[in-house]
Amino acid sequence: MAKADIALIGLAVMGQNLIMNMNDHDFVVCAYNRTVSKVHDFLQNEAKGSKVIGAESLEDMVSKLKKPRRIILLVKAGQAVDDFIDKLVPLLEAGDIIIDGGNSEYTDTTRRCKSLKEKDLLFVGSGVSGGEEGARYGPSLMPGGHKEAWPHIKDIFQSIAAKVGTGEPCCDWVGDEGAGHFVKMVHNGIEYGDMQLICEAYHLMKDVLGMDHDEMAQAFDSWNKTELDSFLIEITANILKYRDSDGTHLLPKIRDSAGQKGTGKWTAISALEYGTPVTLIGEAVYARCLSSLKDERVVASSSLSGPQGVKFSGNKAAFLEDIRKALYASKIISYAQGFMLLRQAAKEFGWSLNYGGIALMWRGGCIIRSVFLGKIKEAFDRDAELQNLLLDNFFNNAVQDCQESWRRTVSTGVQHGIPMPCFTTALSFYDGYRHEKLPANLLQAQRDYFGAHTYELLSNPGHFIHTNWTGHG
Ligand code: NAP
Repeated sequence: MAKADIALIGLAVMGQNLIMNMNDHDFVVCAYNRTVSKVHDFLQNEAKGSKVIGAESLEDMVSKLKKPRRIILLVKAGQAVDDFIDKLVPLLEAGDIIIDGGNSEYTDTTRRCKSLKEKDLLFVGSGVSGGEEGARYGPSLMPGGHKEAWPHIKDIFQSIAAKVGTGEPCCDWVGDEGAGHFVKMVHNGIEYGDMQLICEAYHLMKDVLGMDHDEMAQAFDSWNKTELDSFLIEITANILKYRDSDGTHLLPKIRDSAGQKGTGKWTAISALEYGTPVTLIGEAVYARCLSSLKDERVVASSSLSGPQGVKFSGNKAAFLEDIRKALYASKIISYAQGFMLLRQAAKEFGWSLNYGGIALMWRGGCIIRSVFLGKIKEAFDRDAELQNLLLDNFFNNAVQDCQESWRRTVSTGVQHGIPMPCFTTALSFYDGYRHEKLPANLLQAQRDYFGAHTYELLSNPGHFIHTNWTGHG
């Protein structure tokens, strides 16, 4: 019997769809799952009539694979991945490849890379984005780990990945150790930011401009034909249009309390850990936390007051365009911050990251897919060493073009008492980043005053001194 090209362990939604995607691209896949009955179900249903084969045990699965063996894990992140690795190691030979396609923490991936290297096995931690639909018809794939594995998996990965432009795959080698999962984590953080920015625009449209659902849907539809052209803007328009079985809009009936699985939080934690001001993703995570305090907010809403009697009296169409530009400028800041974090991680871990390639990986197949990412790719094509996206001419000009609208949006929203954590933090970051001088001179003096932490004089950099600020002791 002919051997399978690759095995996949984990027949939940992601695994099943990825197998059928590989099958469509003529790869023979061997399917396995901890609960083996699911292998039988899969072969008799979704995979019926395909080239997919099944395995009764890990030994059976390994015996059915071409060498070097390629095995993808798509199981619950955490202990399940370690458990499967432990069971696979004694069954494999030097040069065989284990790929973890789940949402693992990058630190776990780095740990697994180190431990499998000692056993002469190759390990790849790959971000997989795009959910069920992406897995089935073309995800964004972000593989990292042992680079020696790449030539053996490149064809499969790039065949099944989403394609953009003239057929460029949204998948390339990311970097060493946990780089693939780090990039996926930042992708998810950016997704949190993009979603929150859209929510803030929706809040302003609804509560400052008093737009109804159909008007808002129309606005998002038209925004989707501008620089904001993206999957998330498109689905927002569709959500706003959607009517329940009783003929009324569904959206206002949904409880305003958001959940989270943790990847946005991990991005914010990494940003704090590496001292990178990724403020917008942090605020997007906090916005979800605040939303989840629904019961507290209900109580507070009857006792805490906001601005009284403020009514919008300007030109509605002009302010709608201001909101669009504020969203665009804030989005640029969010991506600039995300790439700052990637640069810092590359420095911390000695990874050599291809930033333009990463933008291309996110250009299609995943939740943050957008035309905008093509512009980021072009910026890194112009200068692979670009310090910050904001310093690229295209993005600098784009922010200049939006700046007045952005400031009007933020000040109008503040006057109306609308919470806009991401619009405002983006603007504060921009103003902070463009200031040659910040008030941290005072901060340094305060630290020296109470803790003798010393400070530097502008006139004598690198030389730290202490002042006895009280004149005694
Ligand atoms: P999931 O619900 O995260 O995991 C279910 C799979 O994990 C099943 O095959 C299950 O086997 C196995 N499993 C769970 N606990 C196990 C354990 N202790 N030991 C061995 N196997 C165990 O499935 P999913 O939603 O398809 O996601 C798979 C991975 O992709 C996850 O890491 C997820 O975070 C990531 N991911 C998901 C999405 C998405 O949209 N769903 C998108 C991107 C990435 P049994 O059938 O035997 O229980």
